[in-house]
Amino acid sequence: MGEKIATRAAYGDALVELGGQYPDLVVLDADLSGSTMTKGFAKAYPDRFFNMGIAEGNMMTVAAGLAAAGKKAFANSFAIFASGRAFEQVRNSIAYPHLNVTVVGSHGGLSVGEPKEEMLRIMDAIVHKLPDDRPRYLMGVGTPEDLVAGVSNGIDMFDCVMPTRNARNGWLFTRFGDVKIKNSRYKNDLRPLDPTCNCYTCRNFTRAYLHHLHKVGEILGARLNTIHNLSYYLNLMQEMRDALEAGTFEAWKAQFAADRARGIE
Ligand SMILES: [Zn+2]
Repeated sequence: MGEKIATRAAYGDALVELGGQYPDLVVLDADLSGSTMTKGFAKAYPDRFFNMGIAEGNMMTVAAGLAAAGKKAFANSFAIFASGRAFEQVRNSIAYPHLNVTVVGSHGGLSVGEPKEEMLRIMDAIVHKLPDDRPRYLMGVGTPEDLVAGVSNGIDMFDCVMPTRNARNGWLFTRFGDVKIKNSRYKNDLRPLDPTCNCYTCRNFTRAYLHHLHKVGEILGARLNTIHNLSYYLNLMQEMRDALEAGTFEAWKAQFAADRARGIE
């Protein structure tokens, strides 16, 4: 079995390997080679590595020039810089003349992969710089706690597979913590999944029934679980909107955290 390593580390290793195979391969970086992992190539082939400084526009035009001279150029930066800071150079100097430059944008985004504290720190740093009169959308997030943290940081919209995918796997979100419906403690539990929830599933079915459906792999279980999880998420967002309008968001948040920590009875 191969050892698991980060994508960017694998990229860095592959560059070194390719550098051995292709003497005309050159690598450029915008002062981020410790992060983009081009540092291995820089060490192995210093005469074919160019640190262009914090200047993606220059990097792209130099890469275009090297490619025009027959080199295989790899231009590296963070994705947002490789595109945002150098769009015209990529379009005019590389794309239009069809030059052989591989533009490598690493560190594509936020919220999948990095530690949660890091996500919150970055959100805190950037969200407030976005215009107040436009909706703010955080893609691919997340748990109920993530949604609350997002709203606290000024996010308006989210999307995520979590409520539906988890539902299909028998993972249910409730006011009083998460429920794994396959657990045998629910086998004879005739209470609704979440007594405070008004959804179709909670109004009509018991935990024992949901447990049974999950156990036998009956598709209705996935459906009922999905109805509940989506209702829970929609209700969560509604409660946050109401609390914000009433000016009671901080109190609501404290109650939310206490309820979620309590665990289901
Ligand atoms: Zn429900």
